[in-house]
Amino acid sequence: MASLSSSPPSNYRGRLAPSPTGYLHVGHARTFWIAYERARDAAGTLVMRMEDLDPDRSRVIYAQAALEDLCWLGIRWQEGPDLGGPVAPYEQSHRHAIYLDAWRKLLRGGFLFPCCCSRKDLEAALSAPHEGAPQSDSEPNMEPLDDEPIYPGTCRPDANNIAQPFDSTVSETAEPGNFNWRFRVPDGEVVEFEDLNLGPQRFVAGVDFGDFVVWRRDGVPSYQLACVADDAAMRITEVVRGVDLLKSTARQILLYRALKLDPPAWFHCRLVTDSQGRRLAKRHDALSLRSLRQHGVTPQQILSGELPAEV
Ligand SMILES: [Zn+2]
Repeated sequence: MASLSSSPPSNYRGRLAPSPTGYLHVGHARTFWIAYERARDAAGTLVMRMEDLDPDRSRVIYAQAALEDLCWLGIRWQEGPDLGGPVAPYEQSHRHAIYLDAWRKLLRGGFLFPCCCSRKDLEAALSAPHEGAPQSDSEPNMEPLDDEPIYPGTCRPDANNIAQPFDSTVSETAEPGNFNWRFRVPDGEVVEFEDLNLGPQRFVAGVDFGDFVVWRRDGVPSYQLACVADDAAMRITEVVRGVDLLKSTARQILLYRALKLDPPAWFHCRLVTDSQGRRLAKRHDALSLRSLRQHGVTPQQILSGELPAEV
């Protein structure tokens, strides 16, 4: 009798994408657990991708801690920085060439323009949320956290150039240089998608979000660009992440289209809140998985939400 194939029994490919800028919290744990369950239930493959793009904020110690804490929680993955796999490397800091290639495709397609706006504008782009990154405290019912001010259009090419590529003769070896590069969104265009958890979603480009940064002047691709380039290159079929990234999904759908790539399916998880409706994601350090572990809290307690009152 033939031995069991080592290839996964289904084509489902999900991913865990922690950002090693701090210890993982209870909120992250739940989202990652759902991602794990969905991959497992689909008899698919789960990919661990370390989103360590930002050299100023990422720390090796947090990357290691994320792997350990998720493993402690009971989550298992089949490909990742620790295991290798067919679409390695699994650390974003090692995938620069893939992002540069995506940037060049967008540039050739006329989707980008260089932006010289101030540091303050850049801050907004820099603070774009990262899956698995510490999140800011927020009152309930606030706008999703991936909001940033609508780009005022300061460096946007004028209306006469709307259909014109920024430079259609751009070479294969173009470099971003010392600019922020923004994706020019199609104003007024409706971006709709079906969320497998939340149902139909609808955003309007230029109204719900504006021209967003895809490449930073310090040479680092933005979250939006890296996420799309990686999910496509890693053949991810379903993205499971927090509801705070819904608007980023709308932005990313525009990137998929511009890059002529098929987007994955989407499953956005509601964020964990405490009894007052406040997000737990970063209530305080005591809610890091690491700290809870040290206080004897079990994975079962974390996943069921039955945390001791005082930990
Ligand atoms: Zn500008």
